Amino acid sequence: PETDHPALEGRGLVKHFGGVKAVDGVDVAVRAGTVHGIIGPNGSGKSTTVSCLTRFHALDAGEVLVFGEPSPAKAWQVPALGVTRVFQVPHLFEQQTVLDNVLTGMRRREGYGWLAAVLRLPSYRRRERAGREAAARLLAFAGLSGRAHRLAGSLSHGQKRLLEVVRAVASGPRVLILDEPATGLTPAEIDALGRLCRTFRDRGLAVVLIEHNVEFVMGLCDEITVIDGGKVIAAGPPETVRRDPKVLEAYLGR
Ligand code: ADP
Ligand code: MG
Repeated sequence: PETDHPALEGRGLVKHFGGVKAVDGVDVAVRAGTVHGIIGPNGSGKSTTVSCLTRFHALDAGEVLVFGEPSPAKAWQVPALGVTRVFQVPHLFEQQTVLDNVLTGMRRREGYGWLAAVLRLPSYRRRERAGREAAARLLAFAGLSGRAHRLAGSLSHGQKRLLEVVRAVASGPRVLILDEPATGLTPAEIDALGRLCRTFRDRGLAVVLIEHNVEFVMGLCDEITVIDGGKVIAAGPPETVRRDPKVLEAYLGR
């Protein structure tokens, strides 16, 4: 069964930019039903690692596996495998409601008949109702229920980032990659983000969290990979990683 394999795995990933060894032989394996943190100092190669995993960058060496199968080489083929990355800058439909933004994510997944939608067939209306209920539940997880009918553009920065996560999940990924999602969030919004990640994990998703808010990561993640200078310097559960001398040095020794 597919659960024997990591949901997403990179083996020996290498990506150099001219003389900069941004990613220099990284191994990382993310299991379904876990939150997996990728942490490290600024410029250590976290985002580039994820860009290798999602095929945004062509690899100089190494391989990527999705549920044990070699990943296709092109970035555009990756979302179809259920691997979704949320970027740091929100790309919402600001002039549409919060709820409509979530429904947009769902439509992409269900791809239900264009014709059924145009003709407003009963099956379409039933599905639309089910979609609205699912969207409302997702918004409740994110603490955004009260905003469902506001324009997305009226949300705070943190709420927009939470909505971006909800919308990404609405598309039904098996692996959700979040690049520094806690940046600029209030403490209450960071709590909501943590709740969202736990909820999705408990439903079997693999959540990959790139963060430099170390406390947030330590409290949330099941596994952590620490990268420094393009190399993995430690990996394991938070209790082990946080006491690792190499990790302490990477963060404190500069
Ligand atoms: P992190 O996400 O850990 O802050 P990055 O993966 O963004 O680090 O960057 C790792 C290193 O690679 C840095 O030295 C950065 O300047 C360099 N780098 C990242 N992307 C590029 C690029 N597209 N072109 C050239 N250098 C890059
Ligand atoms: Mg980065």
